[in-house]
Amino acid sequence: MLKNKNILITGGAGFIGSNLFERLIEEDNFIIIIDNFNDYYSGKEKRFNQLTESLQINKDFDLIKGNLINKNIFKNIEIEIDVIFHLAAQAGVRYSIENALEVSNNNIISTVNVLEYAINHSVGKVVNASSSSVYGNPIYTPVNEEHPKNPISPYAVSKLCGEQYVDYYSREYELPCSSLRFYTVYGPRGRPDMAIRKFINLILDGKEIKIYGDGKQIRDFTYVSDIVDGLILAAENKKAYGEIFNLGCSDPISVNKLVDKIYKIIDSERNIQYVETKKGDVDATYSDITKAQEMLNFKPKIHIDEGLKRTYNWQLKRRESK
Ligand code: NAD
Repeated sequence: MLKNKNILITGGAGFIGSNLFERLIEEDNFIIIIDNFNDYYSGKEKRFNQLTESLQINKDFDLIKGNLINKNIFKNIEIEIDVIFHLAAQAGVRYSIENALEVSNNNIISTVNVLEYAINHSVGKVVNASSSSVYGNPIYTPVNEEHPKNPISPYAVSKLCGEQYVDYYSREYELPCSSLRFYTVYGPRGRPDMAIRKFINLILDGKEIKIYGDGKQIRDFTYVSDIVDGLILAAENKKAYGEIFNLGCSDPISVNKLVDKIYKIIDSERNIQYVETKKGDVDATYSDITKAQEMLNFKPKIHIDEGLKRTYNWQLKRRESK
């Protein structure tokens, strides 16, 4: 476990970043967060303030509000950083199709600035958030790290490009780095544009849900605490340096099955419309996590049934407190 370290989390106010922050702050680490609170979805800043208030912290944490595209963003960091978790990115496959330039600009330049900072300030380790979207439509499943990379959205291309920069800095500057390819992450503080959170809200509001395609497409839904485990394991393990790992649950279900499970938890009348598949959506995501299991001792612990219950309870609480 990372303990008493100086840690920088980029994108630390976002979904996965805030869950990582919550875990690391409990272990007496000093955390710096860089986040520009972009307006991709609303309520991020309020939610982040509520989180820090509920943790009753002020001394072990520093927030730099600003954009990583600007390399001066790092100028007020005066301590030596042991680990950078680079999670900041403009997420959203569908959004990236309409906003290719913005997404590539944001994600690629941010990553290069983080890596430049790391080599110039002797940062101990960089863990980079990548995505299963780099594979595109799978040729075989489960998908291992050697699977061909055929990204089908500007977002996925930007994540692949980020990995390649990480690899370059790792080889040329001997910077200890790893990239982790996350599979459809869900859980408390989840992004409102993602299926599970969206479906739960719509069903609770008595509204229709839209399923893209025939709903038979499988998704390797992965609970956020398992992703947080993987991030920390990669930061701690020297064998992970220079490597890329899939981080998924490796137990996918179809979107139809997911919707059945959500209706069962909420116990509500079904109201589903099937609509045309959206550009950028892949046919299947299914991770082979053998490498992460063997090298990092990564073990996803939260089954989809348990993860959905936890997510539903978080969403209910959130709606009640509004
Ligand atoms: P998120 O949008 O909730 O978090 C990203 C955070 O980064 C946001 O708070 C945003 O304000 C910040 N940010 C973006 N660009 C920035 C910039 N230029 N400067 C400063 N801050 C910036 O998204 P998330 O779901 O938590 O994703 C975190 C990381 O995980 C991303 O790199 C994403 O590509 C990757 N990922 C997520 C998933 C998933 O299912 N959620 C799957 C695969 C990969």
